Amino acid sequence: MDQGMPYFQLSPDLLLRGWEDVRYALVDSRSGEQIRLTGPAVDALELAWNGIPLDSPVLLPTHRNALETLIRHRLGRRTERFIEPLPEQRLKSAPCNCTVSVCWSITGRCNMKCRHCYVEAPDALYGELTLPECVRIMDQMVEANIHAVLLTGGEPLVRADWPDFYAALKARRIAVQTIYTNGLLVTDRWLDEFEKYEERKVSFSLSFDGVGHHDWLRGRDGVERPVVEAIRRLVRRGYPVEIESVMYRDNLDALPATCELLMELGVRKWKVAEVSDSRAWRPYAADHTASREALNRGYVKLLERFQALGRPFQLQIDHRYMYDPRTGKAFAPALQGGTDMSLQQPVCVCIRLHPYLLPDGTLMPCMPLSNCGLDQQMPNLRNVTLSEVLSSKSEYFKFISLTLAELYQREECECASCEYRFQCCGGCRARAYAGGGLYGADPALCDYFRNGTRKMFEPYYDPVQAG
Ligand code: SF4
Ligand code: SF4
Ligand code: SF4
Repeated sequence: MDQGMPYFQLSPDLLLRGWEDVRYALVDSRSGEQIRLTGPAVDALELAWNGIPLDSPVLLPTHRNALETLIRHRLGRRTERFIEPLPEQRLKSAPCNCTVSVCWSITGRCNMKCRHCYVEAPDALYGELTLPECVRIMDQMVEANIHAVLLTGGEPLVRADWPDFYAALKARRIAVQTIYTNGLLVTDRWLDEFEKYEERKVSFSLSFDGVGHHDWLRGRDGVERPVVEAIRRLVRRGYPVEIESVMYRDNLDALPATCELLMELGVRKWKVAEVSDSRAWRPYAADHTASREALNRGYVKLLERFQALGRPFQLQIDHRYMYDPRTGKAFAPALQGGTDMSLQQPVCVCIRLHPYLLPDGTLMPCMPLSNCGLDQQMPNLRNVTLSEVLSSKSEYFKFISLTLAELYQREECECASCEYRFQCCGGCRARAYAGGGLYGADPALCDYFRNGTRKMFEPYYDPVQAG
């Protein structure tokens, strides 16, 4: 219908950005997602932004194809007259390497008393930055071309200045991708207020540790029921809801019943993970951490129930199992299927692209690597900027960019001689650190590959189709 319209307009939500390692990408300021662009596509965009019509002979076929592709993917549209792009849409290059999002603990305070809390929120160990300090960090994000955050805590909703904090993010076109909450403050009234300044259905992630077991791990009686109500409320109001469950010795038997409840509640995703090593958990560890055998048995029982219920949502069980309804496939996240080529890849893509910010402004590779001593060695964004920390020269950046080849060359790493080194790719650095050494083997993946416990899970994976 609009074939005759001669000009191209990029969607106003999209910003053209570049970094030292990624020359060009479109950043969607509503979702925070990045779409990589080629040089010819950027040339085409610049021509369109200079008012060159789509049917002009100035455009080469590659330019026209690039713009047509953007239109096909609904990233732009044809218009009858030339519309100038917004000034902030124009190319801005950051003086650092590309980072996609930051998971940000915006307060170290909480209204729960969880026994395993990474940030020791019951004692507010890491405190809380003031709003002006937070705004300076948001400005650093914009300078580093980071337009996506995931907000966590502590409990993020206990910040007294939450609406102002949120407005400051929106003013900088930084998208909130997920809000991690314990659910206690997610009332209809709170949501009514929230919807006055956020029209998007942001994803919420809530902790729920199993039917009949939530209160013990959370250190407060009577919190299980309000959390279930908060999940129900969010789903009813159209929010995508993800659940995270922390597994320890005593709640493994509740996994099948919890699966049934979460199906009834209509959650979109469930992430099940064993409790990690943190200072807070250590007094409970000897009596309450589940053995590897108990975890494997409990997870198999969960998978039997999950299959019988028709795989009702996305499910991830540690490194052992992942089912995604969008592809209809279940597979082993631990199985990298790598080759010699993988040696030049970062050991963990997640720490490379999605760092974690502690409530006091310390930038960490990820949350499970915090609160175990490593936080003392990491940069604090009150003293250095994100762009400095993400530049190739910084020690922090060298650590998060550690390649598999570099890991395997380290004396203390036994993975180099392991027959599974390209299937496993060394596993998780946080588990390796908890197991005895940041550059050592990951004990959970050794159990999965070397001890052969992956056989217990193979019946639940979908076959990989040839071709
Ligand atoms: S809800 Fe989260 S932040 Fe609060 S105490 Fe529990 S683990 Fe810590
Ligand atoms: S199985 Fe263990 S030793 Fe082998 S590559 Fe994986 S973590 Fe390293
Ligand atoms: S190091 Fe481990 S816990 Fe941290 S992001 Fe990577 S896989 Fe996750």
